[in-house]
Amino acid sequence: MLAISLLSPPYATLSYAAPAWLDDSVWKCGQRVVVPLGKGGMLRAGIVVSIDDDSSVKKGVVLKACLWPAEREPLLRPEYLVMVKQLALRHMVTEGEVLGGLLPAGLRTSKLRLRVLDGGRPRTVAMRDIAKMTDAERSVIGALWASNDVEVLDSTFDADEQELCSLLVDPPWSVRPSAKRQIEVLEYLHEKGMLSRTRMLKDLGSGISSALNTLAERGLIRIGSREEGACEVCQDESSECFSDIDEGFTLLPEQQAAHDEFIQLMHAASPKSALLYGITGSGKTVVYLELAAEALAKGRSVMLLAPEVALACRLENAVRSRFPSQECFFYNGYQSPAEREKTFRTLADRTAPCIIVGTRSALFLPSPELGLIVLDEEHDTSFKQDEGLVYQAKEVAYYRVQQSNGLLLLGSATPDVKTFHAVKQQAVSMSVMKERAGEGRLPEVSLLNIKNLKRADGILAPECKKQIRETVERGEQVVILLNRRGYSPLMYCLDCGHVARCPHCEVGLTYHKERERLLCHYCGYSVPYPVVCSKCKGLHYLPMGEGTEKLEEHLAEILPPDTKILRLDRDSTRRPGKMQRILDAFANQEAQVLVGTQMLSKGHHFPNVTLAVVADGDLGLNLPDYRAAERTFQLLVQASGRSGRGEKAGRVLIQTRDPEHYCWQFVGSADYDGFYAEEIERRRKRKYPPFVKLALIRASYPLDWNKGMEWVGSLTEVARALGKEHDVRVLGHTPSPLPILRGRKRFQWTLKSDSWISIRTLYYAMRNAVPRGSKLRLSLDIDPVNML
Ligand code: ADP
Ligand code: ZN
Repeated sequence: MLAISLLSPPYATLSYAAPAWLDDSVWKCGQRVVVPLGKGGMLRAGIVVSIDDDSSVKKGVVLKACLWPAEREPLLRPEYLVMVKQLALRHMVTEGEVLGGLLPAGLRTSKLRLRVLDGGRPRTVAMRDIAKMTDAERSVIGALWASNDVEVLDSTFDADEQELCSLLVDPPWSVRPSAKRQIEVLEYLHEKGMLSRTRMLKDLGSGISSALNTLAERGLIRIGSREEGACEVCQDESSECFSDIDEGFTLLPEQQAAHDEFIQLMHAASPKSALLYGITGSGKTVVYLELAAEALAKGRSVMLLAPEVALACRLENAVRSRFPSQECFFYNGYQSPAEREKTFRTLADRTAPCIIVGTRSALFLPSPELGLIVLDEEHDTSFKQDEGLVYQAKEVAYYRVQQSNGLLLLGSATPDVKTFHAVKQQAVSMSVMKERAGEGRLPEVSLLNIKNLKRADGILAPECKKQIRETVERGEQVVILLNRRGYSPLMYCLDCGHVARCPHCEVGLTYHKERERLLCHYCGYSVPYPVVCSKCKGLHYLPMGEGTEKLEEHLAEILPPDTKILRLDRDSTRRPGKMQRILDAFANQEAQVLVGTQMLSKGHHFPNVTLAVVADGDLGLNLPDYRAAERTFQLLVQASGRSGRGEKAGRVLIQTRDPEHYCWQFVGSADYDGFYAEEIERRRKRKYPPFVKLALIRASYPLDWNKGMEWVGSLTEVARALGKEHDVRVLGHTPSPLPILRGRKRFQWTLKSDSWISIRTLYYAMRNAVPRGSKLRLSLDIDPVNML
């Protein structure tokens, strides 16, 4: 009997019989297989998770037979399956959901074909053909499988690779307003990045086919394979993307000390985790690379992970220049499914040590024995995935080094409060680097109270504008952080005062001037602008507030006319390679000012920046999240860290309406230790993590379902009753901070307890109280990083 976890809905683990048409020795744990599901002859891909003898099958139960293996040797090793099981238990999902969430698409398909050699011409047999055969016919192919005369053909993704569609031009696009299909295609690519033609036709309908061709002819989009040898992030860029990390440094004393300590941990008899707490610019990357060298020398593999793709790309370049002859695998969510599949397969077969660089999803690559995993910028919330398969990369990483007795190294200038607490509890070792490597010094930070700023002046205070102008006039560079994209976050109807809102989420729509659209930042809903006011049918809107687009426009008005300004946000970086090009151009001093969202606060190195401006320091402070202050502190210190990284001294100006907030005194001197001491006391008093285990249970149901509220109420009763019994504090239900999202009403419960098991018990009971097929969706988020 084979226990098989399905890689697509219903994601269950089901029992199948080993079929008569194949020898029993064909089946192995960790192997991908194709199985029938239900009565309609549907096929599903699955993974064999265990093989048991048939005595465990209940009397009278007739199992369906597993149809065919999708490979001869199992893709996944036994330890890998153990990790999957642990993740499933931790987040209370099925193993199929975990596997379905982490395997590249091409490895989850049941649409496979076999090439069969039976003497004459090879013939191709699809899985659905086999499903229709008689047992005798299958046995014929089964015998050929045994004699190695059948091979599994790769899935269809290779063809897709030849026809990748990507944008070549930023909005506004010169397309007639009546060319609806073309606009639809452009908007879609802008939203989703690069997609294959097949996927485009599937998502938008075959009616867009001619629009695709027209746009390609007009040079607005490109359809074709990725260029050979081009960097995967910069894609259409043939030049090398930039790397400021040279080879051949001698380690500075602090780097050497950290290095020596971590080497010891890496070679210890038991798995370890450690924190490299080094200020921005202290040269953490060099330490990672030297540790990687040591691991490789000992025949062990290394994983270097960054929270986002541009930083991962920078790490990859550093790795390639430090280890020119070492094989390095790069893996991230921007890559096509085919590429990811290829890397996954290659690594599944590999036994020689190697380096893997990537974003959080790289953590699930089946790698040879891991001696070291590095999570750079470990405080970054991107290490938690909270849509689809929920996981915290730090936990998974620790799990993986535990299996191979390796070292998990977390690096940051502003560590996660939880990580720092673990250091204080001596669960995690720490090395500190307090000096900037090279010439850089930490910048001088000042606060600017903008409480009395008039709206007509825009978002920048006169003093701030003056400093920006002076810096530019000196020929130095400025970065300006405004964590709000678009032109204007609120659109008021001038005639009736009504605010334009998303019909699915009820949040205000953001005006994007370049695209001439109003956009919902939560669900992606968009309408062309100008729109008719839904209340008074007027057409006049007053844009309120300022996003990056408007700030860019505003700066152009107040700075010397030849000043070049670049903008870095989600909208300006949707085209493949665009983010890297903006960062390159700024690093090469082709522009004096870089305006952007939190994207620009992360890890980038610009030696000529002498002024960093935080346009709205309070933006994150008022979010309904116990980590709001921590987030703000981290963001601002990281943003400040972009200034003064070269030989000239740097300054940082933070504009705030709330100068009394406790966060500022520490931001000013980048005093992480001070901030930590204050913050941890607040959390202790108010019973927040790390002093308690916290989870969110979210419920949502369609807006038009009138039974929803009743159900939420009865679930609260279930939770309360069990909460008393198991010592779990249940707060709620309360409407979620975003009470309506994507056409569904949302509620949540906050659970606090000393034990994850108790929290899981509650969730389990609540989930069981909801009937199968109900319109109510329930999900568990353990240690949430996103409270919205
Ligand atoms: P961090 O990641 O800690 O902010 P980086 O690793 O980006 O810092 O390094 C900051 C700068 O210092 C880089 O330009 C790097 O080349 C330089 N640097 C690092 N280590 C040394 C060293 N030992 N000697 C000289 N320069 C160094
Ligand atoms: Zn919306």
